[in-house]
Amino acid sequence: MKKRLEIALESLEGFRNPKIELEQYVTPANLAGFILTNADLFGDLKTVIDLGCGTGILAIGSAILGAYAIGVEIDRDALSIGRFNAEKLGVSVDFIACDVRDFKLKKRATVIMNPPFGIQRRHADRPFLEKAFEIANVIYSIHSAESEFFVRKRAGENGFNVTHVWKFMIPLKRTYSFHEKAFKYIPVEVFRIERDDRVPRR
Ligand code: SAH
Repeated sequence: MKKRLEIALESLEGFRNPKIELEQYVTPANLAGFILTNADLFGDLKTVIDLGCGTGILAIGSAILGAYAIGVEIDRDALSIGRFNAEKLGVSVDFIACDVRDFKLKKRATVIMNPPFGIQRRHADRPFLEKAFEIANVIYSIHSAESEFFVRKRAGENGFNVTHVWKFMIPLKRTYSFHEKAFKYIPVEVFRIERDDRVPRR
């Protein structure tokens, strides 16, 4: 299942002209597959919100595994690729063009996201975490290495607990001309964060 999911996600289109100020990188298909199959095993794939969904890999993968998925993205060019990608794999995802700060949700859901790492603009991941704490019961989020202290602290302050931390090296393709090698490996941390007062699932 995981392999088939990864192969499907591998076939998706990425950003055509990635916008540097928005830190547009596609999550590698194998990492997306890892996160989504884990989320599935935890029973977290019911309603999924992908904040900063870019070209849609996390939202589309969630939909393939049976979730109702919403992708929220500020860049309309990325969203149109996301729509194309969902159609290509024959799944339905609701794509919404807005800033994550302005996104509203009535009933709490699972947030799965790969926010900007805040390399171009410091702390660019903060509005993403804040929105996730507002709308989620469970959060899966990808951050640059050495984020654990900060993420645990923010989680605690918002009534959440970090239940899992997974550390990986991910290859980043050379998307921007100032990168020298074809790709380089960067260390990342993936968190599963759960609301403390969560009503137990039945
Ligand atoms: N989730 C995608 C893209 C990750 S890159 C993937 O995993 O492949 C981060 C994305 O966040 C980019 O597509 C960028 O355009 C988007 N983004 C950055 N700031 C945003 C904001 N304030 N509101 C909504 N989307 C934003």
